[in-house]
Amino acid sequence: CGIIGVLSDHEASPILVDALKRLEYRGYDSAGIATVYKGALDRRRAVGKLVNLSDLLVHNPLPGKSGIGHTRWATHGAPSIDNAHPHQAGPVAVVHNGIIENFRDLRAELAEVGIDFVTETDTETVALLTQSYLDDGFSPVEAAHKTLSRLDGAFALAFLFEGEEDLIVAARKGSPLAIGHGDGEMFVGSDAIALAPLTDQITYLDEGDSAVLTRTSLEIRNQAGQIANRQKRTIRLDQ
Ligand code: GLU
Repeated sequence: CGIIGVLSDHEASPILVDALKRLEYRGYDSAGIATVYKGALDRRRAVGKLVNLSDLLVHNPLPGKSGIGHTRWATHGAPSIDNAHPHQAGPVAVVHNGIIENFRDLRAELAEVGIDFVTETDTETVALLTQSYLDDGFSPVEAAHKTLSRLDGAFALAFLFEGEEDLIVAARKGSPLAIGHGDGEMFVGSDAIALAPLTDQITYLDEGDSAVLTRTSLEIRNQAGQIANRQKRTIRLDQ
């Protein structure tokens, strides 16, 4: 399973699918991508091999230069299109590897205020919680941070927002995540291998870190919410 996020100069879909192919070695049962284009979020998801997602994109392309992608290894909910990531709740789309241990409590809390669920996954609670903070008037970055502070478990996460073509929020706890620095582009992925064709300038997030990415900036915070300096390294891998 794996995660990718791109804020690119080029069309995101082919970059996302190619990066997911580089993460295939980790195993997966379904895959999906989301982009934001002219302000609107949209996504494509398919069960089985990545070629199914590629075929879908041939017939039903997904424009946009900003996007997130995911290969899923189901832990909660069967491998199905509905349970495949990205999970979208109104103005936010989320990809997640790992397990949200307290998702039942969060689900109960959301259900109490009348929020409906359309999947069987632990991940959907992350999207719905973020949406609820956005509805409360928090900015996308604030809503993501508030959501992250509520999550127990192991995760790598990336958030993409409606109306925000220059923003990805990412976070890791128990699952590695690497930020890739391009020239006026920014990337995030499960490992440097996923990012190898895009850049060799890598910043690894530390345990508990969250990151706010734009094409020209990267702001990392530690678990306590303080700005953190993480070293950028040159990682050369055979492509
Ligand atoms: N727990 C999530 C799910 O079942 C993510 C699984 C994964 O790591 O791909 O959808």
